This record gives sequence, structure tokens and C-alpha cells, in this order.
Amino acid sequence: MQAVIDYLKKNQSRAVAELCEYVRFPSVSAQPQHRGDLRSCGEWLVEHCRAIGLEARLCATKGNPIVVAKTPRAKSNGATRPHFMVYGHYDVQPAEPLDLWKSPPFEPRVANGVLFGRGTSDDKGQALAHLKAVEAYLKTGTPLPCDITFVIEGEEEVGSGSLAAFLLEHRAELDCDAVVISDTGMPSSKHPALTYALRGIASFEVTLHGPARDLHSGIFGGTVDNPAMALCQLLGKLRDKDGRVAIPGFYDGVQPLSAYERKQFARLPFKARDYQRLLGVPKLFGERGFTPHEQRSARPTFEINGLTSGYQGEGSKTIVPAWARAKITVRLVPDQDPAKVIKRIRQHLKKLCPPTVRLEITEGHGAEPYLVSPTSPQAQAALRALKSAFGCEPVLIREGGSIPIVNQFKKILHADSLLLGLALPDDNAHSPNEKFDLDCFAKGQLMGVYLWQELSGV
Ligand SMILES: [Zn+2]
Repeated sequence: MQAVIDYLKKNQSRAVAELCEYVRFPSVSAQPQHRGDLRSCGEWLVEHCRAIGLEARLCATKGNPIVVAKTPRAKSNGATRPHFMVYGHYDVQPAEPLDLWKSPPFEPRVANGVLFGRGTSDDKGQALAHLKAVEAYLKTGTPLPCDITFVIEGEEEVGSGSLAAFLLEHRAELDCDAVVISDTGMPSSKHPALTYALRGIASFEVTLHGPARDLHSGIFGGTVDNPAMALCQLLGKLRDKDGRVAIPGFYDGVQPLSAYERKQFARLPFKARDYQRLLGVPKLFGERGFTPHEQRSARPTFEINGLTSGYQGEGSKTIVPAWARAKITVRLVPDQDPAKVIKRIRQHLKKLCPPTVRLEITEGHGAEPYLVSPTSPQAQAALRALKSAFGCEPVLIREGGSIPIVNQFKKILHADSLLLGLALPDDNAHSPNEKFDLDCFAKGQLMGVYLWQELSGV
């Protein structure tokens, strides 16, 4: 093991230079003019994987190709070795607006131990850290305790459209004991983290139809219901004063937080006043009985994302609008079922809707919530690897958003995902001046080294 760790130390500046080379590809999946750059980036990655001793290939898909790279399989003596998959993506977000960058997004620049450039943190640097860890094993002739397959795709930032079909097609090859993903974050460099749960989502639009057309409010107002008012009254009934969603059955299936989890969350660095200032609100508000971290990651929410009705232009227009619409999403936690929740909401809105307007509900996209038990042997193994690499006690976090691919890994490969993010909160992912801390890069490589030992031992 010491040889592996020494190798990483000795080769750190080369690893940074390689990351710079990787970042130079403008592999922006959202912009069609970069299609060729994505391909070149994928080809570079395959070459890189081969150079470090992996068996690598570029797999064509309907969209951008997927890089698959495997550690040379040890000669089987009958016993089956554990097999893990590392998932990452080589595509990046658009760099615009370019004038807000202090240096060009695809000309990586190192300053004060930080590497600037689009994709440095999300996700090129994080994925490369895992490749460097495996390289250290292979180049020092240190036997790996498991087989590892890297799957690095080129469409993550545009919804991973080709991934599900790819997983289905290569199910046998990718059959694994767990998927490791470094594409999220940690609260600070002193708080390396395992993200063990994600919220799901369900989206829908509620429209209340009133008169057949906008009406003159002076001539007709007072004789018909106003859909905007009716919608406000309807929505107003959906949350109580304690911040709880007032829809019968909404909380069905919600797993209560364990004492262990709440104790772990209490260790997270958090100052309510800083948080309030960051968000620019006069006062925080959330479901009573839960801390802000619990509210934003472990509790379901009901949010109005958009509200439209009537005249929106300059000055006034005296009408009773023909309709009013709200765009709504609910964030869901394990084990809520998106379809059941939507059904409950439908039933409740129907019950509340007055006969003076007509209710229409259109359903949008959804994603199921996700959870790996934080006390499971794999989760505990990951925590030990984090501790060894970062030299401090790691934290457990839940993410408030969704990462739909983890549900695909669960459904198609029946494998849990261990989310070991290396990004810091101020890494500016998806924003101008994206950066990656080179210390996180180095420690991420170390984490990779320990991870395979720890995971293979359970
Ligand atoms: Zn990412």
C-alpha cells in the first residue's frame, strides 16, 4: 500500500498536468457545435485509460460515446472477486456567460492550489482522481483486491439520454457489487462526506379555467369567480402554519430520521444567520421540529415554482382572467412513491376545487427518492476510506436534489451507489469560474486507494 501512496505523491504534478489536458476539451454536451469535441475528449480518455494499464474502449450510442475501461481481470482461481463500477462524465456545462470568467474556461489555470476551468470539478477532476488511484495500483504492481470498471459518459449534463439503454445492453458486463460516484460535494475540506440519500421529485401544473375569455371586470366582475383568486385560495390551503403540507396522505411512506442520522447532521458546519444572509430572506421558514439541514434534504416539500394569470404587461388592464395556472413540484424522500403522491394531490385538489371554476392537472417529469442505509457495511467502508484519506472524521449528508442515474443503477444493475463527492460548496459548478481544489484532487486519489481495500473487505 505504501508504494501506491508514494506513487501518487511522486506523480502529483503530472496528474494535475493531465487534468489540465482533459479540461482543455470544450466537451459541452448542450451545444451541437461541440459534438466533435465530445468525441475527441472521449478518445483522449480512452487513450489515457490504456496508458495507465486499463482495457478501454469507446462505445457508440445514439448520442455521445461512452468510455468503458476495465482493470485487467486477475486470473480466476474459482473464487469470485468483488466487482465495482466507477461512474463519471466527461461532458460539461456550457461556459456562458464568458465575460464573467477571470480566465478562459477551456484554458485551465492554477492559482493558489486551485485549478480553474470548466469541468475541473464537475466532473473531470473528480473522475480523474479515481483513475489516478487505480493507475497507482497498476503501475506499482500492487494487486487490487477487486475488479473495477469505469463507465464515463458524455451526456450527463443533458439528462443521460443514452445511459439506460447502454446499461441494459451491457448488463452482464456491468453487473457489480456497488457503483462509486464522485460527482457531488462535501461541506468543507474538513468535512469529507458520504451522500447517502437523495430526494425525488414529481412535477405538475394546475390550471383553473373560468370564463371562456378574459372578461371586462367592470361589466361582468362580481358575477363570476376569478380563477386567479380561486387558485390562490386553493393553494393557500395546501400548507399549514407549521410548514407541513396539508394534503391527506402526503407523508405516507416517509421514513423517520433515526437518532444516528440526526446526530450525524448535528456535526455538520452550519450557522443559521450565515445561511439566512446567503439566501437573502428576512427570516428562515420550514417544517417545525426539523433543522434546516433536515428540512432541505430529509423532509418532503411542496413548492410553487411559477404562478401565472391575467395581464402581465405595463399599466393596468381591467379584466377577470379566463384562467390561472401554477407550476408545482414536490420534493420527495424515501420511501414516498411519486405516482401515489400525485394521486393524493389530484384527489385533494378535486375535493377543494369550487364548482365555479374547472380544474385541469397536467403531470410532468418525476424521479424516485434514493437511500443507501448509512449503517450498511458498504457505507461504513466508504466512511473509513474517507477518514483515512482526509485525516478527519467524515460526515453523512443527504442531498436535497435528485440524481436520476442512481435510480437507473439500482433498477438495471441492482447496485447501490456510493456518492463520494470531492467538490467544495464554492467550486462554482455550472457557474463562471468553476474551480477544483488541488488538495481535494490529491485526497480524492488517496480515497480511491483506500476505498477498494475497504469495500472489498466487507
Ligand atoms: Zn456532474
